[in-house]
Amino acid sequence: MKSSAKGVSINISILRTDIPEPSALKQLSRTHAATLKRSIRRLQSMNPRNLDDLVHRLHDEAFSVYDCLNCANCCRSISPAIRHSDVNEMAVKLKIKPSAVVETYLYLDEEGDYVFRKAPCPFIDGENYCNIYSHRPKACREYPHTDRTRFYQILSLSLKNAEVCPVVFAILKKLEQA
Ligand code: SF4
Ligand code: SF4
Repeated sequence: MKSSAKGVSINISILRTDIPEPSALKQLSRTHAATLKRSIRRLQSMNPRNLDDLVHRLHDEAFSVYDCLNCANCCRSISPAIRHSDVNEMAVKLKIKPSAVVETYLYLDEEGDYVFRKAPCPFIDGENYCNIYSHRPKACREYPHTDRTRFYQILSLSLKNAEVCPVVFAILKKLEQA
């Protein structure tokens, strides 16, 4: 697919074969760390709207061919930041008090955010389904953030996310061509 960015013609698409196996990601992100970092620095000077258009299209392409049920790396290795409203939602789903949600599942990290006490997340099942899917935290709904606006603001965070999320890794690799 072709997108045009202010005089620059960008011919980039994501195929299923561009998205690595979750088990290979740690090694891959180490191997590609230097080139990804260089690319991120360059992207910081790209027109923000053009960058958003491109990243959002790559996001849509990637998630149209990739099923998170084959992965669940995010749910198994990192915790979302959990807001008070998320605690209330989880309490409704679990039919317990919000204070019991905090007591049982959460702790305050050094940045003052609630996070899950342990990884993998207590709500991921053996087939990678989330047991509280309809009431999951906002940060879970938004991860891996490749469809948000002003993507330039989270380029560095995305570099970290590329160690966890095969789709983010594939998008950042494609952006090296932008
Ligand atoms: S609450 Fe659900 S979506 Fe969020 S980390 Fe846990 S299993 Fe994954
Ligand atoms: S969002 Fe990324 S890390 Fe999480 S399950 Fe989907 S592909 Fe895997």
